[in-house]
Amino acid sequence: MKDIKYEYSEFFARQLDNEDPLKDFRNEFYFPKIEGKEAIYFCGNSLGLQPRSTKEYIQRELDNWAELAVDGHFKGEDAWYHVRKKSKPALSEIVGAHEHEVVAMNNLSSNLHFLMVSFYRPSKTRFKIITEAGAFPSDMYMLETQVKFHGLDPEKTIIEVAPRPGEHTLRTEDILLAIEEQGEELALVMMAGLQYYTGQVFDMESITRAGHSVGANVGFDLAHAAGNVPMSLHDWGVDFATWCSYKYMNSGPGNVSGVFVHERHAQNPDLPRFAGWWGHDEEERFKMEKGFKPMYGADGWQVANSNVLALAAHQSSLDIFERAGIKNLREKSELLTGYLEFLIQQISGDSGVIEIITPKNPQERGCQLSLLVHKGGKAVFDELYLNGIIGDWRHPKVMRIAPTPLHNSFLDVFRFAQILEKSILKFA
Ligand SMILES: *Cc1c(COP(=O)(O)O)cnc(C)c1O
Repeated sequence: MKDIKYEYSEFFARQLDNEDPLKDFRNEFYFPKIEGKEAIYFCGNSLGLQPRSTKEYIQRELDNWAELAVDGHFKGEDAWYHVRKKSKPALSEIVGAHEHEVVAMNNLSSNLHFLMVSFYRPSKTRFKIITEAGAFPSDMYMLETQVKFHGLDPEKTIIEVAPRPGEHTLRTEDILLAIEEQGEELALVMMAGLQYYTGQVFDMESITRAGHSVGANVGFDLAHAAGNVPMSLHDWGVDFATWCSYKYMNSGPGNVSGVFVHERHAQNPDLPRFAGWWGHDEEERFKMEKGFKPMYGADGWQVANSNVLALAAHQSSLDIFERAGIKNLREKSELLTGYLEFLIQQISGDSGVIEIITPKNPQERGCQLSLLVHKGGKAVFDELYLNGIIGDWRHPKVMRIAPTPLHNSFLDVFRFAQILEKSILKFA
């Protein structure tokens, strides 16, 4: 990251925008309005904005469907039978994988279950799972019910690593120690890559190495990491991962998830799976015969027909990522979030009104800062909304603000700071 001396001034913010090579990308998105006025949007961690091009991508598939109907599966350059291939170049770049290690399919929570079928294989002696305390609810329910499905007791099986007393985020050393302590009883490490509540990025490489050194599998839920921080899943040796596309990846509410399966598992016939015809060898798929033969790599985990309309929306966004480049986005993101952090410190100072619980080290965070609002609470957040700022509130007193490098400008961050300062004066 560039060494930079931030200033709390509109002039300075505009200067950073002028120097920003990615500044024009925000024009490629629709911004929501509050009372007729364009909002400042800091909620790309929850639902990314709609690219202006999405309609066109979907329309093209609607036209294909209208004109070709069933022939659309095999005819034309968009032939749906091969649609899974389109997203691979961009997805593999975003998560740091080979193309055959990634595929877009299903939804995130469903994929977690499918992947657990293959990668959580408890035995009498090796059955425990390590995860982070306070994981996203879907992940908690998924782990709880997977464990029960194997006839085990979640209380005795799921080990949650928690922050130390008085701390908000996890220490890598504590995660590694927990892995070592469970040792030969540990079957799986399954946790977030980037924690949704605190914004902390976990050291996926060290965690994977530690998990493997005791003989466990390691998987990550990358809902908040994908499209936010660059990763190297292949090189890190992660066994599996899955993410959604509607947060930082701007692909639309509830849109398709993505899956990573490391190439060392690409052809392992011993891995059990819950299969469907779309994971079966595509040369023979339409022979409609008995005997499941998985496709090579992540494709072999596909279950059903690809959702072509959903993938069209996904592709409109992935094409933007390809043009912008995940590394360039990250460079801007560090500056943008660094600026937000600087301004909040200027405003809150030593008053203790706002405490940033997201790690200070840029390597341990993405776009999002999570702010504990000690005074004024939700009134401060509501006042921000009335002044045109869309962020996100988590009970009881955390405000999550995520300036994203595709949507947001330095001026957005400056305006946020001005409004926050006024709201604090009013309520805190
Ligand atoms: C957003 C999110 C989900 C949501 O799951 P869906 O299946 O897409 O509804 C799950 N896990 C984590 C960690 C998330 O951040």
